[in-house]
Amino acid sequence: MKSLLTGNEAVALGAYEAGVFVATGYPGTPATEIIETISRYPEVYAEWSVNEKTALEFASGVSLSGKRALVAMKHVGLNVASDPLINLAYTGVNGGLVIAVSDDPGMWSSQNEQDSRLYGLIANIPVLEPSDSQEAYIFTKMAFDISERFDLPILLRLTRAISHTSSIVNFEGERREVYRKYTSNPKKNVLIPPYTSKQRLSLQRRMEIFRQEIPSIGLNSAENKGSIKGIITSGISYQYVKETFPDVSVFKIGIVYPLNIQEIKKFSESCIELFIVEESSSFIEDMLKARGIEVKGKANGLLPETGELNSFLIKEAFQGNYIKYGELCRDNHAFLCPGCPYIGVFSELHNKSIFIGGDIGCYTLAVHTYPNVIDTTLCMGSGISQAAGYSISQGEKAIGVIGDSTFFHSGIPAVLNAMYQKADILIIILDNHTTSMTGGQPHIGTGKGLRPDKKRLLIEDILYSCGVESVKRIGAYDLRNIKTGIMDGLLTSGISAIIIDGECAVHKQKDGFCYIEEQECNLCNSCLSLGCSAIIRDGNSYKINDRCNGCGLCIQVCEQNAIKKKYINSIYR
Ligand code: SF4
Ligand code: SF4
Repeated sequence: MKSLLTGNEAVALGAYEAGVFVATGYPGTPATEIIETISRYPEVYAEWSVNEKTALEFASGVSLSGKRALVAMKHVGLNVASDPLINLAYTGVNGGLVIAVSDDPGMWSSQNEQDSRLYGLIANIPVLEPSDSQEAYIFTKMAFDISERFDLPILLRLTRAISHTSSIVNFEGERREVYRKYTSNPKKNVLIPPYTSKQRLSLQRRMEIFRQEIPSIGLNSAENKGSIKGIITSGISYQYVKETFPDVSVFKIGIVYPLNIQEIKKFSESCIELFIVEESSSFIEDMLKARGIEVKGKANGLLPETGELNSFLIKEAFQGNYIKYGELCRDNHAFLCPGCPYIGVFSELHNKSIFIGGDIGCYTLAVHTYPNVIDTTLCMGSGISQAAGYSISQGEKAIGVIGDSTFFHSGIPAVLNAMYQKADILIIILDNHTTSMTGGQPHIGTGKGLRPDKKRLLIEDILYSCGVESVKRIGAYDLRNIKTGIMDGLLTSGISAIIIDGECAVHKQKDGFCYIEEQECNLCNSCLSLGCSAIIRDGNSYKINDRCNGCGLCIQVCEQNAIKKKYINSIYR
């Protein structure tokens, strides 16, 4: 059977056919569609987890019980999951356990561009790296077999280009059901000294056996063209190399950790000059050089360590042109959507000279409208903690801003810690009832999920349980109460919280739109300084363009009553 699939869809299909019982993860571009796609198969128990760490721990319980499990996340999510990941290498698995991680070279939608292959080295587990959707499908299926055969969790490393590019996939279309028996084995699964000594030695042994078996597994391949030059490559870089140098001998590495040096040495002997083309860090290059293979790559200045590669850059590099960095995201023209429920609160905050710890989510786009509104954005859950640290250090009030999904992901321990530290902060939780940055996935605070019958957890209840005494929920388009709520919070000593409640503008049903009566407008600029990107200055007048979703926020700031709303129903009438 054949189908045009993205890499993420191919991973989902491969996992489905491999008989995966549970698929879980936390939304994160570019990996989100893996779980969304696999959730369409009724045989698979697919559900989002609260964060990547709990996702991997949950999946490891499934694996331990004898069934296969897939976990999917973006690269920064793997940092959150790194504790169970590294320890799972020691315990090993029962049912196959595969962690699909998608990196974002160029940082198109991420806070960094780390190279997740390095986790293979840190955890000492195999890392497979497909170079297109066909391989994403095949590698995923094989990863479950490899996991069970060598008693190891497997990291499947994708990058943005692999995750989001569609190509033809030939697939079997049949699902295998795989169950293994569970037998309690504390000496294998309880990590406590002195068991750990044996588990550590066992890991080395399992990895060494795996390393020796790499050629027979068949995921690496040599394409010998008899050329003087030879190129070692992996992942998406393989496609760029083939496009740029169709007549050059290529060694494609599908298992990027560990390396089987013998087969690479054999390939290197067939060429006079050996190059390495890989995206992100010099991961493979460093391992080859450490084992005495002379190869030219990033350390020789051939290619950059930063940014996405492409065929053009590779061609330039091989022509001797210095490439300082690859393709990087430089577009700062993304703004909060018109009608975004965060516009009101940020338009109020941006005039305050107070430390504001921001967090990960689309509300960070507010900095493109109000450049000084957020002092920091570090990682999931950090805004509250950084505000707490700042307040303790400076002896003054600070604000921590966090979204609803991020609050459940890792904001709760931050609240507990701020309470314990006796910080003096106002917590602002932006509750738009979804995980909006990644396309609108449900979470435990929405009462919805990929599976039915969810119970909604109220943010207020959690805050009260954490010991926060003053908690207020305020409508996102109620400017007066937002102003008062912030003021009250800043005057309250200790920790207080306000929850700004408003449905994400992307998912909200539009009920009308606003327009400006030019003859009533006195050009005061109040509407423009609100920060909604649907309001524009057009020569000597102000206009509202057709991106307006009729939220009504601008009506509240226009003292001239020059802004009117037309309801869609009234248009049809
Ligand atoms: S009503 Fe005003 S603030 Fe709301 S989306 Fe339209 S222009 Fe923007
Ligand atoms: S707030 Fe009202 S009066 Fe002021 S510029 Fe906008 S439309 Fe004109």
